[in-house]
Amino acid sequence: MVRAANRAAEIGATALQIFCDNPTSWRRRETLPPELQPFRDRLAHHQIASLVIHAPYLVNLAGPDPSLYERSVGLLANELTVAAAYGATMVNVHIGSHRGEGTDAGISRLTAGLQQVFDLAGHDADGVVLVLENSSGSGFGLGSTVAELAAIDAALSKAGLPQDRTGFCLDTAHLWGAGYQISSEAGVNDLMDEFSAAVGIERLRLVHLNDSRSELGSRADRHEHLGAGHIGAAGLGRMLTHPALHAVTYVLETPGMEEGWDAVNLNRAREMAAGRPLAALPPEAFETRRAKSGAPPELGDAANGN
Ligand SMILES: [Zn+2]
Repeated sequence: MVRAANRAAEIGATALQIFCDNPTSWRRRETLPPELQPFRDRLAHHQIASLVIHAPYLVNLAGPDPSLYERSVGLLANELTVAAAYGATMVNVHIGSHRGEGTDAGISRLTAGLQQVFDLAGHDADGVVLVLENSSGSGFGLGSTVAELAAIDAALSKAGLPQDRTGFCLDTAHLWGAGYQISSEAGVNDLMDEFSAAVGIERLRLVHLNDSRSELGSRADRHEHLGAGHIGAAGLGRMLTHPALHAVTYVLETPGMEEGWDAVNLNRAREMAAGRPLAALPPEAFETRRAKSGAPPELGDAANGN
């Protein structure tokens, strides 16, 4: 954890997204890790003010399986309370899958589940915003369209969940997989107009800035280095400079984070935001994933399984 904080500072990041425990396991630590205080000290020292905890991929509040639902409630409540202890600003969770039961049934379960999560977490989770991440639409994933995100938000509001405890995350690779033409400035402007009108821009708290190796509307979700995928620099650059997005936190979930490619991608984000052309990436940028085949799915890829 301390190394993550130092590495974020080394590359000039001002936001950090982490898993607080194993992202593919239901098991959670019983106690807070001993390196927590040094970690928080490093974040404060480096002025990394936005800390996001990514919830495990297993969480699905929208599906019909009662035992999976119960475990998801418990796990997510745990993530929220741990997040508060970490000083995190947000917990990010995939909205989940209705598993074929239909959008309305999925949204009702999700809403009831979130009520239980906040009841269970209580004041221990004060100050942490739970952000719901859009889906690429595979596997009955809920929240792949702005209309569905708006329906979810309306359901949360009707259920009396306080607006300051929940929000949304837009993952650009998921938007692309879901069919949003965000490869141009005009496409991003249209999306932001639609989101502002249907949901409200103040509900958007987080952007997962990723390029995509998947085709537009393919419902697939394979992340790529910024400007090296099908979305490209014009659209991703606009995601960084659109005036409606001035207050959101941006997080990269691009490939090869463990091999130093996060530094490269963060620089590319800065170049795109400044409207400068991007350099071509060397072949090694695309080799890390081939070498790693058989390893656990990279962040984002697992969204499909929910
Ligand atoms: Zn994401």
